[in-house]
Amino acid sequence: MATVREGVMKPLPREEGRKGEIVKHSAHLDGVEIPVEVVEIVRKASTVNLKGSRIIVCGGAGVGSKENFKLLHDLANVLGGAVGGSRAAVDLGYCEHERQIGQTGVTVRPALMISCGVSGAVQHLAGMQDSAKIIAINTDKDAPIFKVAHYGIVGDLNVVVPKLIKAIKSKGE
Ligand SMILES: Cc1cc2nc3c(=O)[nH]c(=O)nc-3n(C[C@H](O)[C@H](O)[C@H](O)COP(=O)(O)OP(=O)(O)OC[C@H]3O[C@@H](n4cnc5c(N)ncnc54)[C@H](O)[C@@H]3O)c2cc1C
Repeated sequence: MATVREGVMKPLPREEGRKGEIVKHSAHLDGVEIPVEVVEIVRKASTVNLKGSRIIVCGGAGVGSKENFKLLHDLANVLGGAVGGSRAAVDLGYCEHERQIGQTGVTVRPALMISCGVSGAVQHLAGMQDSAKIIAINTDKDAPIFKVAHYGIVGDLNVVVPKLIKAIKSKGE
């Protein structure tokens, strides 16, 4: 059996009237021992809409703290985008799990991804490398994220991000 996660395939343009064939197979599991029991199904509505965002500002362990993640929210706000995170950022408690991008998070393809303090591990790239434009900010010029980035900024995000916010705000005035 093969399954494909939502967002992994590039959606085709909408085709009015297109229909798929649903083939129902009844599974005969009589006598088969199933070692897993579903105790409860809990559905929690997500408050973050990463998949629907054209612009995502994504933070990694390099952001340094939960407080500092506010800087990324500020950048996302001036751009009208959403904030995502790497697994390291989630594990360190810098941002919520529903913001995680990558193999074990969500797969996104925004028009613009601004990656801040993310090294670019394969598991992370799996969830964002098809973004239309990627800007990466990292202090390490050899960070793998620069291999997929269209624009790379080698520098401290604490210096670069406030400058970006200032520049974007002054353009809007
Ligand atoms: C089975 C499995 C599944 C996984 N699934 C995922 C997943 O879904 N998503 C995911 O992201 N990871 C996933 N991972 C983890 C992944 O391998 C990496 O550990 C993780 O992506 C690293 O996160 P990071 O880049 O934020 O942290 P790090 O690798 O620690 O990188 C931090 C980066 O920040 C830079 N930096 C530090 N300070 C600054 C600064 N002031 N300014 C700018 N840059 C700075 C550093 O140079 C570094 O490149 C998975 C791993 C496994 C084994």
